[in-house]
Amino acid sequence: MPRSAKTPCRHIGCRALVDKPGFCPAHQRQTYRAQKQTAGHAYQERNRFYQRAAWKRLREQHLSLEPLCRECRKAGRLVVGEVVDHIRPFQSPADPLALDAGNLQTLCKPCHNAKTRSDTNRRRGN
Ligand SMILES: [Zn+2]
Ligand SMILES: [Zn+2]
Repeated sequence: MPRSAKTPCRHIGCRALVDKPGFCPAHQRQTYRAQKQTAGHAYQERNRFYQRAAWKRLREQHLSLEPLCRECRKAGRLVVGEVVDHIRPFQSPADPLALDAGNLQTLCKPCHNAKTRSDTNRRRGN
């Protein structure tokens, strides 16, 4: 029975043989996890930003100045907002836009979700 040529796992020091050039299942999982960690890093950094006292203070301050959803108000509805949204999205916690009071608006959850969706679409070029 002919056997397909196997190549050693690319992970240094690993002697496992694999059918296709690349990693053995064990090391494949490991690199996949490493990739996911990198992708999750920016997200984690933003999440950490929302835990910061400076942001929480600014958020409370903004909600006391603008308690109603801005989008709903434009449409003539008075809806209490619960999300303090960045009008222009910030790139990292060090971005001045992140703590710029003039870059904030109050939104209700449905309006915020709608905006997040259209932001994502815009970035995809739709
Ligand atoms: Zn391996
Ligand atoms: Zn709204």
